Amino acid sequence: MNLLAKSNKKFDFHSELLNWYDKNRRVLPWRALEGETPDPYRVWLSEIMLQQTTVATVKSYFEKFTQAWPTVQDLANADLDEVLAAWAGLGYYARARNLHACAKVVAQEYGGMFPSDTASLLTLPGVGPYTCGAISAIAFDKPFAAVDGNVDRVVSRFYAISDPLPQSKPEIRQYADALMQDHRAGDFVQALMDLGAMVCTPRTANCTICPLQSACQGLALGIADELPKKLRKKPRPTRKGTAYLVQRADGAVLLRKRPAKGLLGGMLEVPCTPWIVDLEASTNSGSNTVEHTFTHFHLVLEVVKAQTIDDAEHRPAESHVWVGLEQLASSALPTVMKKVLIKALGPDALKA
Ligand code: SF4
Repeated sequence: MNLLAKSNKKFDFHSELLNWYDKNRRVLPWRALEGETPDPYRVWLSEIMLQQTTVATVKSYFEKFTQAWPTVQDLANADLDEVLAAWAGLGYYARARNLHACAKVVAQEYGGMFPSDTASLLTLPGVGPYTCGAISAIAFDKPFAAVDGNVDRVVSRFYAISDPLPQSKPEIRQYADALMQDHRAGDFVQALMDLGAMVCTPRTANCTICPLQSACQGLALGIADELPKKLRKKPRPTRKGTAYLVQRADGAVLLRKRPAKGLLGGMLEVPCTPWIVDLEASTNSGSNTVEHTFTHFHLVLEVVKAQTIDDAEHRPAESHVWVGLEQLASSALPTVMKKVLIKALGPDALKA
């Protein structure tokens, strides 16, 4: 691919975008204000949280984490269960486990200072090429692209890339790399993200207010709103199961810990049957069911309530634990299990 063949040599993409950014940049809790030095811990924490999750959702979690653990050392010293409980509701729980593991490595092997070279960054748990690029650029001002969904969209539209995602990823990456310069690399990466979030948005390309409009090929060809194209996803299968909400006379409910690895790893759950694929798609939602959509499947759980006693003969198995009603709100419960508890115990079940 000849990058220059598709780009407008006279248009100064870098300057135009940075000029726009200087007037329009978003103020975000994890972002250094103009003139401030970014804190790599906050940059890393926010980038991990923002994977697969919206800015609006991440804000309160970011505040909670940085209040509880103001430094990477504090996070490294926390119990994993505490971290999982604070993460509950953000989804993709492997991120929380990697977050904690990464904090430990940075605290123990790097003296609490994030390394600034990409080779070391890439060895950290949970840090892949995207996060490595984002930390390198935003925290250390190095000219590495960080291609998130916003950047996919802006680059696809600006260069009129009509191959669908994800096949077009390598081409987008090449364009994004070619746009990077040493000057204000961190601001440039954040400017591309902000443009994608504020102007060149998923719903609409607001070209009339865009600093790139005079050279944008998607706009010139009248196809901006159709890009980026995406391959149609396969429909998600439905799985079904039964959740048993067992409650003691004093109100405590029986929960069990999921295995450390795998879906919702290390989180608490209401004991369930295995979630099996509903081959006949015969499961209907009803008044005693909850539904939840994961990345790869849709789940329908029937909720069954039972009362029990907790005397010496009814001790729970080791992986199970009785949790008092007042502790439910601060327990490491994923969203699907919060839905089960609300279904069984009523809308106030998780109010602290
Ligand atoms: S001109 Fe329109 S399509 Fe092109 S980058 Fe700007 S908002 Fe997106």
